[in-house]
Amino acid sequence: MAVRPIVKLPEAKLRLKSEPVGPVTEEVRRLSADMLDTMYDAPGIGLAAIQIGVPKRLVVIDLARSDEERQPMVFVDPEIVWSSDEKRVHEEGCLSIPEFYEEVERPDRVTVRFRDLDGEMRELEADGMLATCLQHEIDHLNGVLFIDHLSRLKRSRVIKKFEKAARRESEDA
Ligand code: ZN
Repeated sequence: MAVRPIVKLPEAKLRLKSEPVGPVTEEVRRLSADMLDTMYDAPGIGLAAIQIGVPKRLVVIDLARSDEERQPMVFVDPEIVWSSDEKRVHEEGCLSIPEFYEEVERPDRVTVRFRDLDGEMRELEADGMLATCLQHEIDHLNGVLFIDHLSRLKRSRVIKKFEKAARRESEDA
């Protein structure tokens, strides 16, 4: 198991559409363990494989507070099969867009179909924070970032800011 570098805005990889994982092999289990290590190290509450540069439809989430026992959840090939008409606004952040937070409106409840690490097909009905987090991570699998849900002005402002920071870093290097 290992902490891997996180892909950050404006890296083009974040816009890739990830491929299905397929059979849950030992390699998939190792990848999900690395994703959890990377997420806990950051620290964050959710991570999609593309955020460590692997374009596979794999998501990890843990919403436990720091004073609670860890509750790692792994979603293989997750798919939203139902979402509520009612919406919910939640402040979101992203390990690929560090230190930027904005309110995003999404469906309040979703049903997600996925496989677990034993390859078993499962369905989960989620609300609140888990619903928000699942939608945010599943967006990543389609190359969509939470800033895409903001106004065009806000989005272009944050993208410019990160492009500028990346340029500065490469000039310093
Ligand atoms: Zn994210």
